[in-house]
Amino acid sequence: MNSSLSRLKEIDREIQLLEHTTALLGWDQETYMPEKAIEERAQQHSLLSGIIHDKLTGKETSTLLSSLGIKDSAGAAESPLGETDRAFLRKFSRDFYRETKIPKGLVVDFSREASLSQAAWIEARKKSDFSVFAPHLEKILELTKDKAEKIGYAEHPYDALLDEYEPFATTSYVKSIFETLKPKLRNLVKEISRAGQVDDSFLKNKYSVDLQEKFGREILVDLGYEFDRGRLDVSAHPFTTTLGFNDIRITTRYREDSFKTGLFGIIHECGHGLYELGIDEKIAGTVLAQGTSLGIHESQSRTWENMIGLSLPFWKYYYPKLRKMFPTQLDGVTLEQFYRGINRSEPSLIRIDADEVTYSLHIILRFELELQMISGELKVRDLPEAWNSGMKELLGITPADDAEGVLQDVHWSFGAIGYFPTYALGNLYGAQFFQKLDRDLGGVVEIMERGDFKKILGWLRDNIHRYGSIYTAEELCMNATGEALNPDYFIDYLEKKYSGIYGLK
Ligand code: ZN
Repeated sequence: MNSSLSRLKEIDREIQLLEHTTALLGWDQETYMPEKAIEERAQQHSLLSGIIHDKLTGKETSTLLSSLGIKDSAGAAESPLGETDRAFLRKFSRDFYRETKIPKGLVVDFSREASLSQAAWIEARKKSDFSVFAPHLEKILELTKDKAEKIGYAEHPYDALLDEYEPFATTSYVKSIFETLKPKLRNLVKEISRAGQVDDSFLKNKYSVDLQEKFGREILVDLGYEFDRGRLDVSAHPFTTTLGFNDIRITTRYREDSFKTGLFGIIHECGHGLYELGIDEKIAGTVLAQGTSLGIHESQSRTWENMIGLSLPFWKYYYPKLRKMFPTQLDGVTLEQFYRGINRSEPSLIRIDADEVTYSLHIILRFELELQMISGELKVRDLPEAWNSGMKELLGITPADDAEGVLQDVHWSFGAIGYFPTYALGNLYGAQFFQKLDRDLGGVVEIMERGDFKKILGWLRDNIHRYGSIYTAEELCMNATGEALNPDYFIDYLEKKYSGIYGLK
């Protein structure tokens, strides 16, 4: 048994090395790669993913798993192994079964259709013409449904899709959480819209990109990001990527006329980066050395970006420094005005620009539409209309065209259906962790006011980061906070914060 396990770990190690190499190619592609290199890069990618697939699903892996008594994706729950080894087998066997259940033909069809579909989506969005994208989305949906059937599910085909991004979460679980969340968020949006709007005009002044970067780098160091184990670069869409235990890189993008874009992009990705940097060295380089779910990952980025980075105590500490750097741009803007301005909330059309209050409603809309499309209730041709009426219902606004409506996100074009809910789950997990952290540390406000962010990081490392994927999202939440995911923490947090900003009640 031990020799089978050791051999499986060697295979896993090779897979991880190949994954990190693939990540390096991806990082390079988004940051420094010359434009014309794309064709060669695509071939490099496809060669590596083929090798990874063969290693993961090969005869040897399958023989080793059977010799360890593993016959399904549940892993080895009953085995006499230690906790980490059991977690390793659970994670490894889940990946194995998921990968082997999808026939190679379907993988090839999917990846071909996804690249055609992405190209069509780019064109459709440029022309704001849904009909250019519609036939491709139909094809993608067909393949996605087929994939769900092949993977299998207990209740709803959407379970199989969700599981890829949020392991062990089910459709009915997400549905019930969103049903609690939705009316409360809508109510808060209404209350805010009745209050007087806050002024954020100072954000539109010109902020030098060099100074923005300098300020961002200082904050990164203060928050605990390690520059000898990572880098900060620029890309069109900010992201975090893991190239190894000591190589976790983040990117952002800067806009001279929108100081929030660069800085909060940095803080958001820093949150993702700190999670990966904080994983225990004992599981370094294994399949367990990654965030346990996208929801938990997003809880980390959003905690740093929103609950910390957009808080008053954070700016009590940093605002004097920021004003020194941008004295004309912030001339006459008090700390209070600055805080209210960066937290301005109002219904808007574009998800990625949405504030903390409205953001999750954008997600709920996408979740509801995905479910209807997967179950066949909603036809692709009726999607734009369903989108617009959903926006009207949830946020009270209607897009003028499809580019700022149903065509705004790239996800569906490459078949990432089941992904969106993880963004909203991240907000919920984040708020629940943060209230526990606040209690455990005896008041996070004072800690932030004196800029002692390493103390906050310490709590997150001890309770979340170091475990990587040893625990599932649900187990982690239970262990860290003593209860299952409860959306009330997020609502309480928002109500308290926004009552202060808008003088509600
Ligand atoms: Zn994120």
